Amino acid sequence: MEDLVQMFQKKINAFNLLAFFILVSMQTFANGLFEGQSGEIISIPASAQEKSDVLTFKTSSGTKQLVSLPFVKQDLVITRHHVTVKVNWVDFGIDELTGDPSKVILSKPDQARANKEALEIKQALSVSTTKITPSFNFIAPVPGIVTSPFGIKRIWNGVPKSHHLALDLRGSVGTPIIAPLKGKVVLVGNYFYTGLTLILDHGHGLFSSYAHMSEIKAQLGDLVEQSDEIGLVGSTGRVTGPHLHWTVYFDGNKLNPESLIKENYLSSIL
Ligand SMILES: [Zn+2]
Repeated sequence: MEDLVQMFQKKINAFNLLAFFILVSMQTFANGLFEGQSGEIISIPASAQEKSDVLTFKTSSGTKQLVSLPFVKQDLVITRHHVTVKVNWVDFGIDELTGDPSKVILSKPDQARANKEALEIKQALSVSTTKITPSFNFIAPVPGIVTSPFGIKRIWNGVPKSHHLALDLRGSVGTPIIAPLKGKVVLVGNYFYTGLTLILDHGHGLFSSYAHMSEIKAQLGDLVEQSDEIGLVGSTGRVTGPHLHWTVYFDGNKLNPESLIKENYLSSIL
């Protein structure tokens, strides 16, 4: 009888232990799992182990840091910095376009040029200043309406192409483009795809790029304030008509610029 009681006791203990571990792992999962949308920024508790150039914000619920979420084609659970994040897929739609075939199927020299330029752009985005602290309170670089949203699937002359990870704003040739946030000019040039292009470094890994301009109004190394004119809308590079193609990069991902220009954006994500 005593043996039976002991055996029963052991079973109870094993069960308790198992239940305890399940509970602990569930708790860790609940604490560590964050959630956000494709191409957006979320805030997470800052980690003491992060590099010193990581931007942190003091809030009533502790010190936070910002994390960018990649564009995803389906819901995805990923690791970003020291957290696990569920990135929710967003249906951004499909856009059918027609254009100059020579700019859709590239000739060998064009492909070589485009590859070289892609590296140049990547290089410009590889180092970010810590001398500027971005406010994240963007304003629209041109007042035009959105002609092509972020994330839309593009089909060029019937050929499926990559998703549009930028925002197209309508504007006639010569419409002034202003800096949506303070920044340093880290790239200017004339590129195969993006035509006359300028990139701003807003600090701490936040960059923005302006493409297809008819004229560039700032020079490499210039420090521009929010609202300063940086160029004019044009139709240089691979385009179907004059517009501004505006890309925002942060923390290694391209973001949805339309979210960033919403009022009180930073406080909405902290
Ligand atoms: Zn575009």
